[in-house]
Amino acid sequence: MHLPTYQDVIAAAQRLEGVACLTPVFTSRTLNAQTGAEVFIKCENLQRTGSFKFRGAFNALSQFDARQREAGVVAFSSGNHAQGIALAARLLGIPATIVMPGDAPAAKVAATREYGASVVLYDRFTEDREQIGRTLANEHGMTLIPPYDHPHILAGQGTAAKELLEFTGPLDALFVGLGGGGMLSGTALSTRALSPECQLYGVEPEAGNDGQRSFRTGNIVHIDTPATIADGAQTQHLGNYTFPIIREQVNDILTVSDAQLVASMKFFMQRMKMVVEPTGCLGLAALYALGDQLKGQRVGIIVTGGNVDLQKYATLLSEAP
Ligand SMILES: *Cc1c(COP(=O)(O)O)cnc(C)c1O
Repeated sequence: MHLPTYQDVIAAAQRLEGVACLTPVFTSRTLNAQTGAEVFIKCENLQRTGSFKFRGAFNALSQFDARQREAGVVAFSSGNHAQGIALAARLLGIPATIVMPGDAPAAKVAATREYGASVVLYDRFTEDREQIGRTLANEHGMTLIPPYDHPHILAGQGTAAKELLEFTGPLDALFVGLGGGGMLSGTALSTRALSPECQLYGVEPEAGNDGQRSFRTGNIVHIDTPATIADGAQTQHLGNYTFPIIREQVNDILTVSDAQLVASMKFFMQRMKMVVEPTGCLGLAALYALGDQLKGQRVGIIVTGGNVDLQKYATLLSEAP
């Protein structure tokens, strides 16, 4: 198996130029005062489709050959990958079919349909989405693009950290949300090239710490769909492409609770006027959890997404202490 390298991230960045947003890097005096660190916040919640997933999706679809373009793409996703694929497919004139869980946030399902994709719903607790996706691919000749375990996907995701590090210069530490590891493995490729000494951390919801257990044991651990508000990180296992890169190039995997995610969500809303989805709060929640340990350091976090169901968002914020 050929693992992607930083050269693949550079090639992805060239494909994405003028197509993906060069998202802003914000700072917050309040956050710097609270942590004693200098924190740089890469805002992928402001990316097209509201998450970094557009990067990997466009990078993958723009490499389809003529036959693949005609037969179309199929993807399974809890939401953000779906929107990324749907928009990338529309921009490239490729038909898209998306397999989504029936309990995905209504806003994500609606947005996917609005981008012109056909949506097939399934029950995430009883049905196997990979199986459904594969069946569609086999029956209609469509190309299946998985949400994280694909070299073109992870190379595309790595372009966010490339932009961040080109803007900030080397960092002491970088915190990135972890689901199946497309974002973290791509980020690792960029980080090891642009800021080799940086401590790179993946951050998972504590209810689904398969990534942490895999990292520490050296084998990919499979778990049941974890119960967490971080719906973008409800993955059951790391991937065959993402895991070896993570194991080799990441410093550690940390976990945070749902309550810590909500506290960070409230911070983004109140102090920075930014809507960030629970999964997008993993990085900041970990930074808070480390407390004083980052004093005096230059620290980055990638805010991975901002797609919320308004009702759920309002409820979570109103119940936050
Ligand atoms: C997909 C996603 C993640 C996790 O990314 P992986 O590549 O699966 O690790 C984190 N945050 C948001 C908002 C996402 O959509």
